[in-house]
Amino acid sequence: MFSINLISRILLPFSPSGCTINPPRDVFDLYTPRLVRGSGHIKVGLCPLCACTGTGKVWLSMKFSAYNYHMQYFHGIAASTARPFSPPTAFRTTPRQRPGKLERTHMLEGRCHRCTRWVPAQGVKDADAKVKELFWWKHAATCHGTSTIPGERNIFISDPAD
Ligand SMILES: [Zn+2]
Ligand SMILES: [Zn+2]
Repeated sequence: MFSINLISRILLPFSPSGCTINPPRDVFDLYTPRLVRGSGHIKVGLCPLCACTGTGKVWLSMKFSAYNYHMQYFHGIAASTARPFSPPTAFRTTPRQRPGKLERTHMLEGRCHRCTRWVPAQGVKDADAKVKELFWWKHAATCHGTSTIPGERNIFISDPAD
């Protein structure tokens, strides 16, 4: 497997001017920007997911949590683990008491592995959210910390071929 130092050395010659290489925590880190620009109030980080998936170069403020918000609530990557938030362990649909006009009559809920509560996985308004998983990710961000579903992080890594 490539070490972080090796990756940094490979990337370094290609560093665009004005950017600083910012090494990830490990090779499975989906959170940390690989490139940052500026410092203090004007420090911005390049979203590695948008940059790699062809969505474009998305630079976000590191100082005013714009970067954190984007990674957690647009991509579902936890700042605490640099991995995707753990999903619900189960789903259920429950009827809502006296729903208002334009509100859902039923609510999809997800079971949390950490607090074992059933958490609303949708908004009360009967409309499609821009980011469907937003409600779950908001719960996960405040509840999970570094806790994950047992076995979830057993990433298979094949031995290098001889
Ligand atoms: Zn992004
Ligand atoms: Zn929870």
